[in-house]
Amino acid sequence: MATVRSGVVGHPVAHSLSPIMHNAAYKHLGLDWNYEAIDLEPANAREGISDIFNQGCGGLNVTMPHKYLAFKISIAHGAANRLESVNTLIADDKGSLHGYSTDGDGIVNFLSSQNIDSDGMRILVIGAGGAARAICDSLVQVNANVLVTARKLDQSLNIVEAVMAHQTIGKSRIQGTLDIVDWSVRNNYIQECDLVINATPVGMTKEKKRDTSTPIDTSKLASNQIVLDTIYHPIETELLTQASEIGCKTFNGIGMLIHQGALAFNIMTGEKAPLEIMEKAIREHLREDESGIS
Ligand code: NAP
Repeated sequence: MATVRSGVVGHPVAHSLSPIMHNAAYKHLGLDWNYEAIDLEPANAREGISDIFNQGCGGLNVTMPHKYLAFKISIAHGAANRLESVNTLIADDKGSLHGYSTDGDGIVNFLSSQNIDSDGMRILVIGAGGAARAICDSLVQVNANVLVTARKLDQSLNIVEAVMAHQTIGKSRIQGTLDIVDWSVRNNYIQECDLVINATPVGMTKEKKRDTSTPIDTSKLASNQIVLDTIYHPIETELLTQASEIGCKTFNGIGMLIHQGALAFNIMTGEKAPLEIMEKAIREHLREDESGIS
């Protein structure tokens, strides 16, 4: 039997950490699978994805800018359907593609792994791009009370529209809520939240340079609050440094990354993902990468 091909498609995609964690997991479980980063330009993406599956493929992750295309060419399930965005594709026996979105459930699963129950939690999500969209959706599904804030009001409105449009469909009505906070007054809402999530790139290392800005006024935080930064490069952003000095419980984006990857791994291989192995591989890689940052 030939090695099963899998990977992530995007443009650009060379920076992706997914090959590191998936290949470590395959090796640990003794699966004859290989995971590669595949760069597909937007003009060739539809044909490229189709070719990859026609040649035989166990599954693909999909990253920017192809998540909407992946939604269009697949039967989308759950969050992928609500958000019109797919980050995991598999083919069934007849060759039809099925699409899933694991980013938002990745963060919810990570929080549960830390014994944090999102049900009824008051959460401020900063930013309203692709990651925030998936995070807000999954948190509302598990009955959290979410406030979203972004520089552009229409981005926040789009999220509320996508997420809340589906809340009355199905047998049981979701109890979670999603409201918008204007960017100019976001700091006034920090104190009424249990958890603050940064879903903007503010604080991210760029070209080996540390960004020491924070997306909120951290002096408004109190020690009983939790702060999660979706960023994992650097491993500790300025937001997390300041929050932990105040005494907050803090988490970087590695947990979300691993857990969304683990869900994709389960979907592709049908096997339970070895979370510790995936996390170890990512941490080792990031530690090496952190050296040389100024
Ligand atoms: P995106 O779609 O480009 O959205 C970025 C959001 O941040 C937008 O709302 C954007 O608003 C806002 N933003 C950008 N620069 C800002 C600034 N200087 N001040 C305030 N707001 C700003 O990106 P994304 O895919 O959602 O990713 C967002 C973050 O999540 C990134 O840091 C990424 O590393 C992280 N992420 C982590 C994981 C994980 O597994 N841990 C997964 C996905 C993403 P404007 O349009 O106004 O710029």
